[in-house]
Amino acid sequence: MPTPIPHAITRQDEGVLIEWDAAGHQAFYPSRALRLACACAACVEEMSGRPLLDPASIPPDIRPVTLALVGAYGLRIQWSDGHGTGIYTFERLRQRCPCDRCRGEREGARSGVGR
Ligand SMILES: [Zn+2]
Ligand SMILES: [Zn+2]
Repeated sequence: MPTPIPHAITRQDEGVLIEWDAAGHQAFYPSRALRLACACAACVEEMSGRPLLDPASIPPDIRPVTLALVGAYGLRIQWSDGHGTGIYTFERLRQRCPCDRCRGEREGARSGVGR
């Protein structure tokens, strides 16, 4: 699958709105969940994938301050807690797309496996 490229990205205090295409596929990524999903070397141990970030250290009112495109493959977010080293690749964001349709597809793929 080619790297997904968003049609539009909008910063809001509550989160980041990504429109994947012009046909109405869009999803809202809430700030705190997105901050907790940061996969940079300061938040996740590179070798083991062990999370280093303590969720309790993230303020509930965390917000994205600025967004910057990284090449054509990702997004860098500067957070209000001063953190800004994480790059969110579009591929990863697309995989985690929280819209109803993608959630349904992921759950469909998992059905039968149990939880
Ligand atoms: Zn990070
Ligand atoms: Zn989606």
